[in-house]
Amino acid sequence: MKGLTLSAHGSLEQLQMRDDLPLPSIRQRNEVRLRMRAAALNHLDLFVVGGLPGVTIVPPWVMGADGTGVVDAIGDDVRHVAVGDTVVINPGISDRSCEYCRNGEQPLCVRFGILGEHFPGTIAEYVVVPAANVRSIPASIPADVAAAFSLATLTAWRMIVTRARVLPSDDVLIWGIGGGVAIAALQICKLLGAHVWVTSSSDAKLERARVLGADETINYTTTDVGKVIRDRTGKRGVDVVVDDVGVATWKQSLGALGRRGRLVTCGATSGPMVETDVRRLFWNQWTIMGSTMGNDAEYDAIVGQLRQGRLLPPVDRVFPLGQARAAFERLQNAEQFGKVVIDIANGG
Ligand SMILES: [Zn+2]
Repeated sequence: MKGLTLSAHGSLEQLQMRDDLPLPSIRQRNEVRLRMRAAALNHLDLFVVGGLPGVTIVPPWVMGADGTGVVDAIGDDVRHVAVGDTVVINPGISDRSCEYCRNGEQPLCVRFGILGEHFPGTIAEYVVVPAANVRSIPASIPADVAAAFSLATLTAWRMIVTRARVLPSDDVLIWGIGGGVAIAALQICKLLGAHVWVTSSSDAKLERARVLGADETINYTTTDVGKVIRDRTGKRGVDVVVDDVGVATWKQSLGALGRRGRLVTCGATSGPMVETDVRRLFWNQWTIMGSTMGNDAEYDAIVGQLRQGRLLPPVDRVFPLGQARAAFERLQNAEQFGKVVIDIANGG
């Protein structure tokens, strides 16, 4: 079968299209095999290319965490989907037996892994995954939208709904609108009725965020975001900050955060080592929390939204499978607004 593989950690030069990959087969009674329709990229895929501590790949390593496909074969114990069903994939794989899994908190699993990072990925004609990780969706949902949905929406849902518990009365600041998690966070906050501030270095991206419901926009290249927000809110600040940028934005995030504020982070694309003045932390009674991926109940909740036509991710561009490396270049250059998708079914 065809697939996009990584030959070794390094640059995008290491990405290679192959047409001689073995067809994966079902080995466990609880697995399903999908004939993939489309896959989507996440920043995580760039980290996998560059190499992550503690993650070893065996080349040729199939890339990709997100995707949608049609069930092509099922193990003997699989009941909730059938051959022919169109499904989306939750890319977070857990052992379903540790204490956290037994509590329904799969992303805390002691053996947690992600497709394309710890397990063979989705940018291939076929993929085998645990059936517990797939949900059926109407075949009428466009493949590019379905492919783009899971990782960013699930991550954002857990951050906004479960962790930060955003209320309709909250002001929320979301950094770097244009990325998948940030856009999903904006959509979820607007679904909840919150007042949302977004930032970008691009005025064009800020305009598009307004169309998605952003209430306030700030171009961070020309200004200190924390200061602007304090000025525009009469020094009050916001209730929630969604920061997945890390060192480059941390100080301004805390500058924007009002009393009793909650800061939730799911990443550190600019670097992980940040400074926090503990005196301001306790005086303002802030909560700083981490979040990653989502559990089964959260995945059911977002797929329920998808089935009803809500939280549809904007798709930036669709590349045919044969041009998958160009898709990675677009993501690496941060040119996108929304998700970068790879068409597998028609991609040749
Ligand atoms: Zn577990």
